[in-house]
Amino acid sequence: MTLRLARVKKPHIQATATPCVHCGADENQLFIHGTAHPDGTPIAPHFNVMCNQCKASGPVAKSAEEAIKAWGKIAPARLDDKTPALLDDIEFDDKEPESDVA
Ligand SMILES: [Zn+2]
Repeated sequence: MTLRLARVKKPHIQATATPCVHCGADENQLFIHGTAHPDGTPIAPHFNVMCNQCKASGPVAKSAEEAIKAWGKIAPARLDDKTPALLDDIEFDDKEPESDVA
């Protein structure tokens, strides 16, 4: 038996008018996560809000209401933070580790 994945475009559900703190876009979407019974009834669903513009993701919550509330409280982008070490500053091993198996 082969598993065929149905490519179904999910309907757009505007979650909240609260703009994205990262890019300012006011178009966002409510996502539902989790598995479902064969008839489609969700099992312990989790929700989060995602920005359609920059894909910033709000916290995952157990209800749509909580996810929408949490979206309004996500921290803004930390654009002033120093970037992590550049590749030049990270040491890599040149050689493959010696194998015990001859
Ligand atoms: Zn955004």
